[in-house]
Amino acid sequence: MCSGKAGQLQHRIGAAIIKWGVNNYRDFPWRFTYDPYRIAVSEILLRRTRAFQVGRIYNQIIDRYPSVQKIVSIGDNDVMLLTLGFHSRARILREFAHEITDIYNGIIPEDRKKLLAIPGLGDYSVSAIRVFAFGHNDPLIDANSVRIISRINGILYTDSLRRSRIIHEKYVEMVNLYDPVVFGYSILDFGALICGTVPKCSECPLNMECQYSLDHLKQGNNI
Ligand code: SF4
Repeated sequence: MCSGKAGQLQHRIGAAIIKWGVNNYRDFPWRFTYDPYRIAVSEILLRRTRAFQVGRIYNQIIDRYPSVQKIVSIGDNDVMLLTLGFHSRARILREFAHEITDIYNGIIPEDRKKLLAIPGLGDYSVSAIRVFAFGHNDPLIDANSVRIISRINGILYTDSLRRSRIIHEKYVEMVNLYDPVVFGYSILDFGALICGTVPKCSECPLNMECQYSLDHLKQGNNI
């Protein structure tokens, strides 16, 4: 639990992002489940692929491979994956499924270290599984959340910020009073629809708190 003015600001920002999120959620099919298998599959498919593309095939993949035991047998030429150019994804899904069945008896573990050792899962996908399947408040640090946090707090954006302690701390301060699942989907969509590469500050509920927009207003620019 944080305290002080900086912490209160992050709480207010967290609340504003959630309020925006619950009114603007995108309804991707993997958002209607807490099943760690389904969430893990979505995260593997979403890597380097746009969400709307994955949204087009996700239900068909899950219908065809409804469990980790079934996806062990996915072929390299799976039509669903190939039509969208997911050439290496079948192999990654197969390696992921083998590890879960061989080492964990078909049950996806909750422990961060164990998840990180599973083929196909990286730092972000492990956080996403822990947040969306198990309700932990691990920070979901990707280009979107780094961009949002750095703009709001007046931190110069660089690629190395992903590994920065301050970004992780700001994220935890924003989420720690709230439901991490609701906050996670809210900040994902906020980054996609409002605070994108070109921010829509005039439509943003944070424009009177965000350092980026305040700086622009001070310089006499429209936001
Ligand atoms: S005011 Fe602009 S820069 Fe700040 S969070 Fe909103 S959209 Fe992003």
